[in-house]
Amino acid sequence: MRAILLGPPGAGKGTQAARLAERFGIPAISTGDIFRANANGGTELGKQAQEFMLAGQLVPDSLTNAMVRDRLAQPDAAAGFVLDGYPRNPEQAVELDAVLADLDTKLDAAIEITADFDVVTARLLKRAAIEGRPDDTEDVIRTRLEVYAASTAPLTAFYAGRGLLVQVDGIGEIDEVTDRLIAALPD
Ligand code: ADP
Repeated sequence: MRAILLGPPGAGKGTQAARLAERFGIPAISTGDIFRANANGGTELGKQAQEFMLAGQLVPDSLTNAMVRDRLAQPDAAAGFVLDGYPRNPEQAVELDAVLADLDTKLDAAIEITADFDVVTARLLKRAAIEGRPDDTEDVIRTRLEVYAASTAPLTAFYAGRGLLVQVDGIGEIDEVTDRLIAALPD
């Protein structure tokens, strides 16, 4: 299974990516997690990414694409992967195709987890109180949702046009959403 997860911040992509990964025995690859680990570790990549993350803007494609190309070439991704948070704009989608072509493979599914912006905003503000993620403030959440609507949401049409889009309602219990996802995936 080679799948990407689309959906607004707070839709539950990270949670569901981990569950799919476990189910299929493949890695869940979250670009946000990789950036945060780099930022916390003080690496050069982390330093460069941090200002964009704190502002709720996309990290430049030059940094992001290189990181993903590298990660997908690792041996554990050879049998499949669930990508959470990438691609996030049309340029990244084109780059992902190129990376996969170079690896002699292609995507099986683009899964969109749908959720209302009001619902995800409430979830993220609640998460902020628990996890203290520095980009979970009301202002930055608004920006992240705007970036999602402008740059990432149009990718659903791109993947629908290729017959790869699977849409799943992200509202409900975590287990329920996982069941919906598994039921909706191609064989
Ligand atoms: P969320 O989906 O809740 O916004 P993520 O952990 O996926 O959380 O992303 C956090 C931040 O990391 C984004 O706001 C952005 O700055 C950066 N980021 C993650 N993935 C990408 C990507 N594919 N391209 C550019 N920036 C990214």
